Amino acid sequence: MFASNLFLVRSVTKPLYSASVLRSVWTGQEPLAIDDPEVNALIKEEKSRQVNGLELIASENFASRAVLEAVGSCLSNKYAEGYPGARYYGGNEVIDKIETLCIQRALETFNLDPEKWGVNVQPYSGSPANFETYTALLNPHDRIMGLDLPDGGHLTHGFMTDTKRVSATSIYFESMPYRLNPSTGYIDYDKMEESAKLFRPKMMIAGTSAYSRPLDYARFRKVCDDIKAVLLADMAHISGLVAAGVMPGPFEYADVVTTTTHKSLRGPRSGMIFFRKGVKEINKKTGKEVMYDYEKRINNAVFPALQGGPHENQIGALAVALRQAKSPEFKEYQLQVLKNADVLAKALVSKGYSIVSGGTQNHLCLLDLRPQGTDGARMERMCELCSITVNKNTCPGDKSAMKPGGLRLGAPALTSRGFKEAEFEKVADYLDRAVKLTLEAQSKSGTLKEFKAVVLEDAELKGKMAELSKDVSEFASKFPMPGFDEI
Ligand SMILES: *Cc1c(COP(=O)(O)O)cnc(C)c1O
Repeated sequence: MFASNLFLVRSVTKPLYSASVLRSVWTGQEPLAIDDPEVNALIKEEKSRQVNGLELIASENFASRAVLEAVGSCLSNKYAEGYPGARYYGGNEVIDKIETLCIQRALETFNLDPEKWGVNVQPYSGSPANFETYTALLNPHDRIMGLDLPDGGHLTHGFMTDTKRVSATSIYFESMPYRLNPSTGYIDYDKMEESAKLFRPKMMIAGTSAYSRPLDYARFRKVCDDIKAVLLADMAHISGLVAAGVMPGPFEYADVVTTTTHKSLRGPRSGMIFFRKGVKEINKKTGKEVMYDYEKRINNAVFPALQGGPHENQIGALAVALRQAKSPEFKEYQLQVLKNADVLAKALVSKGYSIVSGGTQNHLCLLDLRPQGTDGARMERMCELCSITVNKNTCPGDKSAMKPGGLRLGAPALTSRGFKEAEFEKVADYLDRAVKLTLEAQSKSGTLKEFKAVVLEDAELKGKMAELSKDVSEFASKFPMPGFDEI
């Protein structure tokens, strides 16, 4: 009744669609192109941008067609508050199977013994996963310590500035950061330990968003043991590398591990929280086993404390991605990611550029543009206008996050399109051309605002930029795109 009334009203008063659609009743079976040509056109536009550009954002990837299919499936329709076997809604027999499968695959993918580790696959994304972990294991205003955002940490690790508590994780908890040694670009572990022993956080966070070296999890463990802190490892960026076994993971040392699933892991946008379970230790006085209590606390923090209905379409898609992550092809892919990031860093160094910490051992590198006399904001804008997608990033010693000294460059996305070492050499060439154009635009402007005007107005410059953009697009579009056809 309601549906047909709705149609009547819509067709009489709002004849938005083509005549052929209006002739028949809306059924919900109309393809997007018919149902909403406007959104459809925008998706096509975005597809074209992805296919014709060079995607170098280190946190991005191209999910497979199977993953995208699951994200866009009927699983999106279902309410499933609660956990498998204990839901607040009926009709979850199949959903339970999907979430249970996802959990099982998550533990298998990271080689975890289900007696010793559990996982919650419901977090909507990485940031909620972190806040849920804090909610589970901390009291309001307990102390946390993570890598400072300008040094390569994440907002959710307690980020605040001198004058403002920016992240909710610094509003509801008291945070103090540790930092890099500005002269080496490596984490200053000695200072971290010194600060930790003064600040005595209840939780230490070992995780990075813009750091090209493996973390010394053993060192974090030692510090946490000394001050009786919980060790949370946030492996959001590197979880694909860890899953493939091409980079050491945190599981040997951490109490809890959070991750996103859409970065190097190449799944849908989502998050996971792994936690220890079973016997924690033997009480020295009583001789009795002390058990971990993380499972209940974390599950309760995710639902009902912070989330409602889980996004089972994400969870189904994550199950698909986790299965892929166990394949030999995935390991090969991740090995190629490492090689490609290394080649990119080395190619840039050979062109005279400076890379923070001198190179990379993971999927990303940080290009420091300060020696060239420019910065990340100008270069990011130039790249954007030349079909190269990057993001500006602070470099060690930067005074202001408003003028970050460099760019973060990641290999996962383009490696998913089949790029190998030779192609990443070309990527370095294109970046080099973009730096030169950035410097040229800078010589014709003063402030960032003027720079942004010049790159849109200066005819000579625009000609050169169009040439670079055309070369980049011709090059990029030759490579296959996982997940979708450009239509
Ligand atoms: C990306 C990232 C997150 C947050 O993930 P979102 O899905 O963007 O919320 C958390 N921690 C680290 C270290 C990250 O890099």
